[in-house]
Amino acid sequence: MSEGPASIVPVDADTLDDFAMLEGVGLAARRELIASATQRRLQPGEILIEQGSSQLRLFLVLRGELTVHLDAPEAEPVAVIGHGETVGELGVLDGSEASAFVVAREVTHLLEVAEEDFWALTNASHAFAVNLLLKLVSRLRANNAQVSQNVQKRRQYERAAMFDGLTGIHNRRWLDETLHRLVRRHEAGGQALSVSLIDIDHFKSFNDTYGHAAGDHVLTVVASTLSANLRPTDLVARFGGEEFVILFPSTNLEEAMVAAERVREAVAHETLSMPDGTALPSVTISMGVSELEAEMSVAELLKIADHAMYRAKQAGRNRVRPGRPGDEPL
Ligand code: GH3
Ligand code: MG
Ligand code: MG
Repeated sequence: MSEGPASIVPVDADTLDDFAMLEGVGLAARRELIASATQRRLQPGEILIEQGSSQLRLFLVLRGELTVHLDAPEAEPVAVIGHGETVGELGVLDGSEASAFVVAREVTHLLEVAEEDFWALTNASHAFAVNLLLKLVSRLRANNAQVSQNVQKRRQYERAAMFDGLTGIHNRRWLDETLHRLVRRHEAGGQALSVSLIDIDHFKSFNDTYGHAAGDHVLTVVASTLSANLRPTDLVARFGGEEFVILFPSTNLEEAMVAAERVREAVAHETLSMPDGTALPSVTISMGVSELEAEMSVAELLKIADHAMYRAKQAGRNRVRPGRPGDEPL
């Protein structure tokens, strides 16, 4: 809603002292600006700029406050524009559509500068042109900071998606991706690759006896015991539930069996207690080991290790069994 200049704030050159955009702009140019500009008064809730509209005007806020909203005028404001600030310069500069809604928070008095008067001021005042550049730079920097924050957040999400929330080691998704990559490398003539599938013994009855929290604690201890007893190049992930997988790059079946045996023993010797000190009985694991051969898929490789692990269970648990193509589970 526009009203005649007479109805509102008396504006003289001094009134514009508080505007960073007009710092250093001479008296004559200011007077010219005031003479050519239109005064406007907005009621609370009145929309000054519609998102997506083309705005070829610069607004100077004389009194009151405007709020900036993305997506909808009712959305939470992302910025407040008050006395001494300006809005609309980007739109005038390149004719682009407004990227947000601008709404009056209270009764707000504005000075509206038309496009031709904006350019006339830019031509007449070097200071105004410089102020405009400074404002653009600060917008650019704010945008860059936002972009880098978003990139950081995305990295955090990606990282979280690859780790198991309980044990902190890699999860199944990471394992699938990594294993496929290692298998492709092997197919391209790379090094040997062995894997081990691990399952905690009698874990259901452990949970039933000592509670789920104790079970969760055991899972974290087993995960860290596995990691601590492997070479830095070996990789471990939680496969799901109480199952884990170890990847042994550049390792054949016999070598992987040795490493698996070391890991099995370490878990069996681990003394367990709850974080509050309550003692828990130790747990054991059963392990199956397999080595990648030519033409073998990731699924086959894991299935052979799984069958071998099942044979370890059948043989009495707390042991390691090697698996070879064609082996049956029993
Ligand atoms: P087996 O020696 O044959 O492996 O016996 P098991 O009891 O370990 O095997 P089963 O598959 O019957 O039970 C697995 C149990 O693992 C079931 C469930 O109570 C427990 N479990 C699986 N995931 C979790 C978990 O995230 N936290 C806890 N606390 N327990 C889990
Ligand atoms: Mg299981
Ligand atoms: Mg089990």
